[in-house]
Amino acid sequence: MISRTSSRITDRLREAGKRITAERRLLLDIITRNPHLDASAIHRLATDVNPKIGLATVYRTLNLLAELDLVDVSTLGEAHGHYEIRGDDHVHMICLRCGVIREASPLGDPRSLVDAEDFQVLQARLELIGYCPACQQDSKSSRQPHQPEGK
Ligand SMILES: [Zn+2]
Ligand SMILES: [Zn+2]
Repeated sequence: MISRTSSRITDRLREAGKRITAERRLLLDIITRNPHLDASAIHRLATDVNPKIGLATVYRTLNLLAELDLVDVSTLGEAHGHYEIRGDDHVHMICLRCGVIREASPLGDPRSLVDAEDFQVLQARLELIGYCPACQQDSKSSRQPHQPEGK
């Protein structure tokens, strides 16, 4: 699955006349394996592999991938962007307490809601903010925030 996604992406980069550098390959691999990270978290993971990779390179690459519609950027309730490989449409559910991000299937095409309004929709954003099941449990029993796995 991961290799099919990344070969689709490298094909798309080649079509656009972009070189597949080792840095771009590394960043794509990180984004594919770790959806919803922001640029500084992606940079941290990249420097574990290649300490020379700069934050500016990370931003340039993320902007390039977004321009080519290969990644989606969502704020996820914060002021900065979080990146994931463009895939199936989904809605993000963000826990206010532990910050875990879950994905849910979309609620149908939101564009259909505004058809009657003659509004030309370019992009639809919907984020569901609330509490994950573990935090709902925790808030009943204690005040310690739930630690999601992999954080
Ligand atoms: Zn939670
Ligand atoms: Zn997502």
